[in-house]
Amino acid sequence: MGVVVEPKVFLLGETQANQEGINQLLEHLGVPDWSSDAESSAELLTEIYGRSCYRSFGTTLNPNVTRVRKTNSDYIENTLQKGDGSIFEHVTANFFFADVSRVFTHELVRHRVGSAMSQESLRYARLTDINWYAPTVIKEDNEAMKIYMSKMEELSKLQNELADMFELDQEDKNFTVKKEATSAFRRLAPMGVATNIGWSANMRTIRHVIEMRTHPGAEEEIRLVFAKVAEIAISKWGNIFADYNKEIVDGLPWYTTTNRKV
Ligand SMILES: Cc1cc2nc3c(=O)[nH]c(=O)nc-3n(C[C@H](O)[C@H](O)[C@H](O)COP(=O)(O)OP(=O)(O)OC[C@H]3O[C@@H](n4cnc5c(N)ncnc54)[C@H](O)[C@@H]3O)c2cc1C
Repeated sequence: MGVVVEPKVFLLGETQANQEGINQLLEHLGVPDWSSDAESSAELLTEIYGRSCYRSFGTTLNPNVTRVRKTNSDYIENTLQKGDGSIFEHVTANFFFADVSRVFTHELVRHRVGSAMSQESLRYARLTDINWYAPTVIKEDNEAMKIYMSKMEELSKLQNELADMFELDQEDKNFTVKKEATSAFRRLAPMGVATNIGWSANMRTIRHVIEMRTHPGAEEEIRLVFAKVAEIAISKWGNIFADYNKEIVDGLPWYTTTNRKV
């Protein structure tokens, strides 16, 4: 039997700075005493890559540079305002979106630049229960909820009936046959079926996708997921997302910035 589920966002990893290498670089550049007040590897590395372009680690390395921004937040704020987006491509964060529909995954994979995806294979992973996200318009309507519940249950049952009919659980069943059948059965699963996708993206891409997908014009489920991504991003890498304004529209946050699409 399928149940109603909520999409979940997990942060699995993020690029880590290697202090030993950074020290070696600073020594090489002639600024061994340079340091940053960055509070995360993401903010530190973005600053280092940015400063390396103009040798702006201080005023002694490039005669054209007579003053530099002192703090990580000032430095990053200025690069965002100038639109120096490429420095935000160095750091990647690894997310996992669980219990998301194929409606969601299909929209997510349209964002090709700066991202990597690993999608649960419904060719290999056999569906048993059709779990699903209930959009507000359905959730708020008892009659519609009843229809959705009964159809999802019917489709869940069908998956199991087909598996029985093709004797997929028989001992020593050939895996190729299982795969072929599983792939055929998924055609009777709705787009709303809850599934999983891993998504890694660099900071520039994360910014772009938050801006596009928390927009009130975007679909409810993807707005919900990217509101969670934005919340994580703002709490972990504050200076990179410090320019974001949050406004609640139709019960979901919409993140906007004057530095759109850097
Ligand atoms: C509210 C909403 C409604 C939508 N409706 C539809 C719809 O009805 N039908 C539909 O097909 N899609 C729809 N989309 C998807 C949309 O058209 C984009 O394909 C999707 O959002 C990916 O964004 P992106 O193009 O910025 O690509 P990303 O991969 O996120 O790329 C980031 C940026 O890189 C640059 N870029 C990427 N690829 C190229 C390239 N090949 N050449 C040059 N520059 C490039 C662009 O500046 C792009 O904005 C919708 C999206 C939203 C948010």
